[in-house]
Amino acid sequence: MGIGPGSLEKNDPITGLNLVAWFFEQTQKNPDFFPLLKSTITFFNVMNFKAINQRFSYQGGNEYLCEFRDELLRLFKGEKVLRAGADHLVVISLNLTVDEIGDRIKILKEIMGNSPKGLRNQIKAGIYIVDGSTHKPVIMMDRASLACREVHGIYNKAYEVYDSELAKRHEQKQYVLEHFEEAFEKEYFKVYYQPVVRALTGKICGYEALARWIAPDRGMISPLIFIDVLEKVHLIHKLDAYIIEHACKDLRDDVDSGFAYQPISVNLSRLDFELSDIKKIIDDAVTKYNIPKEYLVLEVTESAFAADLSSLGKVIREFREEGYQVWLDDFGSGFSSFNNLQSYDFDFLKIDMNFLRSFDKTPKTKVILASIVDLAKKLGIHTLVEGVETQEQYEFMKKIGCELIQGYYFSKPLPVEEFHNRRAELCSFDTNESPEERLYYDEIGRINFLDNTPLREKQMDIASDIPIAIVEREDRHYRTIYANDAFLREVHSFGAKDIQDVLKLLWKQNTIEEVQKYYEHLLYTEEHRVTIEYNMMMNNYKINTIVRFLSRMGNKAVYAFMTRNLTLHENL
Ligand code: C2E
Ligand code: CA
Ligand code: CA
Repeated sequence: MGIGPGSLEKNDPITGLNLVAWFFEQTQKNPDFFPLLKSTITFFNVMNFKAINQRFSYQGGNEYLCEFRDELLRLFKGEKVLRAGADHLVVISLNLTVDEIGDRIKILKEIMGNSPKGLRNQIKAGIYIVDGSTHKPVIMMDRASLACREVHGIYNKAYEVYDSELAKRHEQKQYVLEHFEEAFEKEYFKVYYQPVVRALTGKICGYEALARWIAPDRGMISPLIFIDVLEKVHLIHKLDAYIIEHACKDLRDDVDSGFAYQPISVNLSRLDFELSDIKKIIDDAVTKYNIPKEYLVLEVTESAFAADLSSLGKVIREFREEGYQVWLDDFGSGFSSFNNLQSYDFDFLKIDMNFLRSFDKTPKTKVILASIVDLAKKLGIHTLVEGVETQEQYEFMKKIGCELIQGYYFSKPLPVEEFHNRRAELCSFDTNESPEERLYYDEIGRINFLDNTPLREKQMDIASDIPIAIVEREDRHYRTIYANDAFLREVHSFGAKDIQDVLKLLWKQNTIEEVQKYYEHLLYTEEHRVTIEYNMMMNNYKINTIVRFLSRMGNKAVYAFMTRNLTLHENL
């Protein structure tokens, strides 16, 4: 078939693949050319392709594309592989399910990530299952590429499938882009408040201010839609200044009307620090409404620190020194959580709600939540968990000592009028924490129920007070592999220097039958894989020992011992 004048180029000179534009032209011209309506379109994008070109020259970039093409031809054998220009390749498949395509994308990502020219580039993909809702190939392609864009910034996600949700989000973003100026002008933004509750008392002890956009023609738009867009167009600081001003004003109203009032937290975007003098905006607002600084909480999301702004650390220090509270938002959401804790000081750590979304799915979640609370307390930081939706989640968080709770279980974010309507009920100290209670419970909250020495006075002391030793036994020889200070303290207290010394005492002060009995305990714990506890006398002290077999290698067996001098502890 000859290509007539005006027709599109058929093949891409670099990869030799058919070009998408040509391919679509054929499907339009001739319905029998390809059953596009029965196909699934997968759009591939190489992230940071520019970096490959810069590092390996265009020649190297082209080679990378050809490598990529070869893998696609291999993994998607029998399907159409096309080039869409730039670093975009496309597969139009007739025989694969979405899951099968997904599996291949993951393999591809792996292979291309290991390519010598792979840098740390990532392959991202978007899938559109052609469903007949449009007959225009360009729109089909656009949908696949849109789905691909959804995962651009998401490290651990290789692809997305286009669906009605995504379509809706996209449409909303479009709306936001076209209308945000009007929304600022006409003050369509509104502050909603979500109560924060003290786990131990169930009393309200704060509110988080959350932005809403109430569009007259389409109702409420979620910040999950418009925050992103406002950040992209560099207007987020304008919104945040607006929310800060309103939060301070609402707080002033509460104070003036003589009701119980609580600290309000506002969310700060990383860009607020770059695009505006956020410190001055906040200072001006608290001065204007005469708000004590400790009543304004600044929530800085974890991702803000990912950009490594040294100026951010400085401003945060200033905020805290002047009496504002600074909370680390979305802790554990995947950015540099631990770096942040090491490099900056925060008053509260807000545990990301994603953990709770998997609360029932895996027992690991509870361990992780408990470890975060444990860690925070060891560092002297208070904890709050957000997204609590069930009583079970609430009880669990309370049990592990998480101090504050926020979530639908107590209340959704509501407009300020809702709270005013419920004033009588909400604004007494039966349901509200008083400032005295706040100080009182803040101290209680420092106790770490998860620590084995919760009454320890010193923070950041990492040694355990549980006496423990790991002892290896080979025939009749014993060797201490590990013993902590607490264990040695116990041993010293009944007049032994070390484990060898304990054994000597054991032989000297017990009958052969008794020693035999202790030895049998060791055999028993190995055979039955259980922990055994027994008492014995040594230098007239009653010694309690708990032992568990750990492992064996030939003649060598190793045990964990916990030993306590009961006489001494009883006489204390
Ligand atoms: P965030 O700061 O993590 O806020 C918590 C979000 O979780 C809120 O969503 C809240 O409505 C929602 N939420 C609270 N409890 C529950 C629960 O039990 N279950 C579930 N599934 N969700 C719960 P929202 O209001 O849609 O805000 C989303 C995000 O938008 C916020 O996340 C925050 O990062 C950002 N944002 C909201 N308002 C502002 C603002 O004024 N300025 C800036 N820069 N960001 C804001
Ligand atoms: Ca927040
Ligand atoms: Ca959060």
